[in-house]
Amino acid sequence: MQYMPRNLVWIFSKRYIAGKELSNAVTVTQKLNAQGVKATMDLLGEFQTNEEMVHYYKQEYIRLIEESAAKELDNSFSVKPTMFGLLLDEGKCHAHVRDIVVKAVSHGRFVRIDMEDTQCTDRELMLYKRLLEEFPGHVGIVLQAYLKRTMDDLKNLVAFDNGRGLINVRICKGIYNEPAEMAYKDRNEINDHYLLDLDFMLRNNVYPAIATHDKKLIRGAIHKIKTYNISRDKFEFQMLYGVTPELRKSIVEKGYTMRIYVPYGKDWFNYSTRRLKENPRMVTHIIKALFFRG
Ligand SMILES: Cc1cc2nc3c(=O)[nH]c(=O)nc-3n(C[C@H](O)[C@H](O)[C@H](O)COP(=O)(O)OP(=O)(O)OC[C@H]3O[C@@H](n4cnc5c(N)ncnc54)[C@H](O)[C@@H]3O)c2cc1C
Repeated sequence: MQYMPRNLVWIFSKRYIAGKELSNAVTVTQKLNAQGVKATMDLLGEFQTNEEMVHYYKQEYIRLIEESAAKELDNSFSVKPTMFGLLLDEGKCHAHVRDIVVKAVSHGRFVRIDMEDTQCTDRELMLYKRLLEEFPGHVGIVLQAYLKRTMDDLKNLVAFDNGRGLINVRICKGIYNEPAEMAYKDRNEINDHYLLDLDFMLRNNVYPAIATHDKKLIRGAIHKIKTYNISRDKFEFQMLYGVTPELRKSIVEKGYTMRIYVPYGKDWFNYSTRRLKENPRMVTHIIKALFFRG
C-alpha cells in the first residue's frame, strides 16, 4: 500500500478523513452533532521527531479546542503521544500533552490518549495516570483487546483508581502488527477477550467507550449492558468516521450514545493506509483504478 501513488490513495481515503483542514473537521462534526452523534476530533500525525512540527501540532490542537468551544460543538479530542515525541523524551511529551489538556479543561472538555504500538503501551499508561491525577474526569485512555496484557492493565488501573470511579477506557481490538508472544492473532480469540475485558469494566465501575464496527461484539456488549442493568450515561459506543454508517445509525436509533472518531490534517497517509488495509475490497478497487484511470 505504501507504494501506491498518494493521489490515488487520497481518492479512496476521503471517506475516512474529514479533510486536510481544521475547518473540514468542524463541518463534519457539526453534521454529526445534527444527527445526535458526538465526535472525538483527532489531528493526524505520529512518531514526530522534529521540534518545529511538534510546536505546530500543539498550536493546531489549541486552535481546534478554541474553535470547538466557540462553535459549541459536542466533541472531545483524541491525541497520539508519539506526535509529541513520546519515544524520545517522555518528560517533554507529558508537558506538551498537558498543555493541550489544560486548554481542553478550561473549556470543560475531555481528552483521550490513543493507544499506539507496544513500544508505547507502558509509556502511554503512565502518561494517562499522571494526567488523571491532575485532571480527574477529563482524560481517558485506550486499551487493545488483542494484547495479552490488557486484563492485567485493566486490573492495575482499577487498583490505581482506588474506588473513585474515574477510569475511562476506550476498548478496541487493536490495529498494529504485534508479535504473537504479545498479541492474540486469531479473530475469535480477540473477540472473546474483547468481551471479557468489557465485562470486567462493567463490573468494576470503569466507563467503557465500546469502539468497534463488529456486529457480534456490539450484540455481545448490549447483552452485557442489559444483564448488568448499566445506565446509559455509564458507557458509550464509538466508531470511525466513514465506517459502517448504517450500523452506526441503528445504534443511535436504539438511543445509545455514539461518538465518531473524526480525523483530519495534512498527515493523512499512514492513517488512511491502515483503514484501507482493514477493508480488503478497497485494495481491489485501488488496483482496478490503477489500470483503468486515464
Ligand atoms: C473510535 C475508534 C478508536 C480507535 N482507536 C484505536 C487506538 O487508539 N489504537 C488502536 O490500536 N486501534 C484503534 N482503533 C482501531 C481498532 O483497533 C480496530 O482496528 C478497528 O476498529 C477495526 O476493528 P473492528 O472492531 O471494527 O472489527 P473488524 O473485524 O475489523 O471489523 C468489523 C466490520 O467492520 C467493517 N469495517 C471495519 N473496518 C473497516 C474499514 N476500514 N472500512 C470499511 N469497513 C470496515 C467491516 O464490515 C468489518 O467486517 C479504534 C477504532 C475505533 C472505532
